[in-house]
Amino acid sequence: MRDPVLFYVIVGGLAGIWAVAWAWRRYRWYSASKAPFPENWLTQVRKALPFYDHMPKPLQEQLQTHIKQFLFRKQFVGCAGLVVTEEMRLTIAACASLLLLNRPTLNFRNVRWIYLYPAEFVVRHTVQDAAGVVSTEDGVLAGEAWHNGRVILSWDDVQQGVYDFNDGRNVVLHEFAHQLDAESGAMNGAPLLRSKGAYGSWATILSREFNSLRDHAYFGANTVLDTYGATNPAEFFAVATESFFEEPDSLSEEHPELFTELLAYYQVDPREWRPKVAPKRAKAAKKVIS
Ligand SMILES: [Zn+2]
Repeated sequence: MRDPVLFYVIVGGLAGIWAVAWAWRRYRWYSASKAPFPENWLTQVRKALPFYDHMPKPLQEQLQTHIKQFLFRKQFVGCAGLVVTEEMRLTIAACASLLLLNRPTLNFRNVRWIYLYPAEFVVRHTVQDAAGVVSTEDGVLAGEAWHNGRVILSWDDVQQGVYDFNDGRNVVLHEFAHQLDAESGAMNGAPLLRSKGAYGSWATILSREFNSLRDHAYFGANTVLDTYGATNPAEFFAVATESFFEEPDSLSEEHPELFTELLAYYQVDPREWRPKVAPKRAKAAKKVIS
């Protein structure tokens, strides 16, 4: 550009527009976070998290803030004719927000869209066999976490997850655990930990527990951890997260080292606000969730 004054005017104008837009977004984010939590939302949260009233007050307040921020940032898209309701949005936001308590977090900043199907859905994947032949195959899924800011869920399965919060099955916890895992750059069972020193014991203990679960799966033995977690380390972390929040007493008794690692990561102890229930054995086959 030949006129340097005009150049600086244009650059300054664009920078000004960007700054105003950024400040406006921050203001709306701040306002959404500070807005009172509606009473009818609280009713819905109690339905989604039946132990809500047993949680310490500071955790309840954190949960409410995370839910407001979650609903402010995430776009819900109804699929296959589903009309997304407030109950659906709040149920998913409440379960996902459990994973954020007591931790520095940007509220699943990589997740922008949540696609919600009425029930299980069919997804077509490209696969490559050992000989390098690439083909496509269809899979029926209850949930799926993508790297590109999308989470796909079946509302039917979301409801089943909150209907029984003691069975170690919760597709929302599972898929959003994958999203936490992906924040490290790869979905591999190693999320971002609080310090470099924490990675050593995390790798040692989770690898040992993963291999143990693979042995259990091979011999068909039942354990508090669903054998779907033996699929790979990423699925192991997601399945362990489900157990940590849904069956904390059983997990801590049967897998104390794993429980301690998850306790250090999630910074909450669900045993303090979960009812003590007998562990469920001989679980029904887990639906496919990736
Ligand atoms: Zn999964």
